[in-house]
Amino acid sequence: MKIPSDKQVLVTSALPYVNGNCHIGHLRTYVPADIYVRMYRKMGYVVTFVCGSDTHGTPIVLTAEAEGVTPQVVVARYHKHFKEIFKELQVDFDYYGQTDSETNHRRTEEIVTRLIENGYVYEQVINQAFCSSCERFLPDRYVEGRCPYCGELARGDECDQGCGKHLEPGEMIEPKCKICGSEAEFRNQEQFFFKLSSFTDFLISYLDTMGGTQNAKNYAMEWVKKELKDWCITRNLGWGVRFPGRDDLVVYVWVDAPIGYISFTEELFRDRAKGKGKLGEDGQEWRRYWKEDKAAIVHFIGTDILYHHCIFWPAMLKGAEYSLPAAVVASGMVKIDGRTFSKSRGDVVWVTEFLERFHPDTLRYYLVTQSSHTKELNFSWESFAMRLNNELVAILGNLVYRLLSFAYKNFGTIPDGSIEEEILIAITKTKEESISAIEEYEFKKFVDAVMKLADFGNSYFQREEPWHLIKQGDRDRKRAGEISLNVLQLIKAICILLEAVMPAKMEEVWQQLGMERDLHSVQLDELLVPVESGKALKKPYRLFERVEAEIIEELS
Ligand SMILES: [Zn+2]
Ligand SMILES: [Zn+2]
Repeated sequence: MKIPSDKQVLVTSALPYVNGNCHIGHLRTYVPADIYVRMYRKMGYVVTFVCGSDTHGTPIVLTAEAEGVTPQVVVARYHKHFKEIFKELQVDFDYYGQTDSETNHRRTEEIVTRLIENGYVYEQVINQAFCSSCERFLPDRYVEGRCPYCGELARGDECDQGCGKHLEPGEMIEPKCKICGSEAEFRNQEQFFFKLSSFTDFLISYLDTMGGTQNAKNYAMEWVKKELKDWCITRNLGWGVRFPGRDDLVVYVWVDAPIGYISFTEELFRDRAKGKGKLGEDGQEWRRYWKEDKAAIVHFIGTDILYHHCIFWPAMLKGAEYSLPAAVVASGMVKIDGRTFSKSRGDVVWVTEFLERFHPDTLRYYLVTQSSHTKELNFSWESFAMRLNNELVAILGNLVYRLLSFAYKNFGTIPDGSIEEEILIAITKTKEESISAIEEYEFKKFVDAVMKLADFGNSYFQREEPWHLIKQGDRDRKRAGEISLNVLQLIKAICILLEAVMPAKMEEVWQQLGMERDLHSVQLDELLVPVESGKALKKPYRLFERVEAEIIEELS
């Protein structure tokens, strides 16, 4: 999707549910979102990037109960964990909040109240799972049973082993209490419903123009055209955002979680207004994004939460008179050695364990090059080693180290000369390919295009054989310098582009090139600005280390 150049951009990444540690499946959404943000900034856009921890809902309450602590303790632990992971991986949010904040409670109450006032919420008595030995209602994850649609084992509010459908309270067949294992009975209880069905026509026309990946659009359209059922938005639970006027009910976690996107934007601009005391910044700037349609809102999510982002969320925003998302970008899921991710079976790769051995940038690189964004990514240590050895070491690392060693040893500074047409054309072409790939959320295409430029750099250097020329007379020596200058120009361009993917490693290359400006703020206009002759080069070192077969065997 092309975003008009005068529009600001708000990018959000799906909120991690803070009930466990970060695994590489999570990163499939955050890393591409971060790359997208970095590239749009390089293209000259004003981009705001927010995220935060999803803190409510039953899984956290169950964990807390099992540990004998409060939900706040569980939330604080994993909130801290995710913040640390994002820092280490340089997933660089402008603001990272959490949905139990006062702002989010207030914003959720305001939106739900607005939906009530606008006639989109009604009360209804429903038959709901109740455990008579625990003497409680069993919301969401408190209940396990079978899916009424496909018959598979299901838990709580979704059929996660079978058809993937969202399950409404009372829908599950043969419900059992998760706490004590007894068969649950059904009891009447009043709950509040959101009139999702009355948004059918709106959603059909909204989805038709919504940007983002095709998978998001297609799935959502299919669901809407089948039939939309009204949505139960309250639960009998003590942990969450109170339903207005009812002390015994909280709103369903999927109401207050996406509202977090709005609250984090509010909190960001309020903090900025406080911190900077800038004239005109009164903390109300979030309204430009969420009330006044002045920005393009782009949501990065996994395909498992498409329903919530393409159906519930736009209907809620519409019903409460907020701005609608411009695009929903859905990444395919991650498998481990061909198997579905599972903590209990050990089919999981924890990010902290990965980072004990490998540089975070190699993971960022792998996650976007292993498969295109909407396709399933099948992680294996073998495929990781191949990308690292054959691409990062053999193509990119080789180009940078070989050229810089040659130039450093023979010249010490960036040599004189002019940039050849061939080089300028190659850079221009890569720039264009990169921009269109990013606009289409084709992160793999983007990185492949830049790696092709690195490949071209290697063959150019090989073809021109400057190591022969350097041993000859002055004229040949001058030509060897010019060849180096041309490759340096290529490396500069690669560095600016790949900063979006490997910010730390490209910073190192930038330093080796003797550049003084902050690489992270350099824009794409600079790709063709000639490198400055006469500038001192730094002594180069190798960027990436090969990973040997024994290590891979040990890890697999
Ligand atoms: Zn099912
Ligand atoms: Zn029970």
